[in-house]
Amino acid sequence: MNKKLRKACIAGNWKMNKNRAEAKALIAEMTPLVKDAGCDVVICVPYTNLETALEATKGTNIKVGAQNCHWEASGAFTAEISAGMLSEMGVPYVIIGHSERRQYFGETDVTVNKRVRAALDAGLTVILCVGELLEQREQGVTEEICAMQTRIALGGVGKEELARIIIAYEPVWAIGTGKTATAAQANEVNHFIRTVVEKLYGQSAADAMTIQYGGSMNAANAEELLDQADVDGGLIGGASLKAADFAAIIKAASR
Ligand code: PEP
Repeated sequence: MNKKLRKACIAGNWKMNKNRAEAKALIAEMTPLVKDAGCDVVICVPYTNLETALEATKGTNIKVGAQNCHWEASGAFTAEISAGMLSEMGVPYVIIGHSERRQYFGETDVTVNKRVRAALDAGLTVILCVGELLEQREQGVTEEICAMQTRIALGGVGKEELARIIIAYEPVWAIGTGKTATAAQANEVNHFIRTVVEKLYGQSAADAMTIQYGGSMNAANAEELLDQADVDGGLIGGASLKAADFAAIIKAASR
């Protein structure tokens, strides 16, 4: 992390976990543990927990996010939620382009771009996920994949809007598998993504861009990953479901 240049952010992705009572209990447990965080703290909860999370985090330093949103404002899109619906509730963050959406729900770079555009228009801050599959890493095309995903997702995004974009580099082979990228691998790709942003928007924009790493980050490996110059925080799945583990990662990001 380089806190002189940019903000560090630790975001939890709860995925499809926790009912309302469990969400309330987890937030109550984590609140005192993260209250002195020296980084931004976000929890991205299932839609059904947004209201509970907004209520439970009132007056705390924990911000709430959703895990997706649709690009249209309203209409015949059964089961979808629009960016405007989220902002109307007071939800400030949204994850877009998570690999599980790309893998299991037909998300493409083009739909990721539409969702990013809609989220920005609704005033949300976007956590934009990019990352390569295992086969792509083995074929040596990690940089091409991450560059393409980043460039397409940021299509039509103005320089002044970048303050509301966080990029999360998440190698798909490291998500939920217990296989973490080494600190050097994470830093190398995060740095590469920064050069992609630089080519699009210039050096000061690239320097200011928060680029997280995500993929089996946990209490034990967070410090080493977050010590890397281009790793500005983390998007945390499994470990965000345990208050003590999530707090330990936040502590590592707060140094
Ligand atoms: C994620 O869901 O974005 C993620 C990184 O999951 P995990 O930490 O469980 O690998």
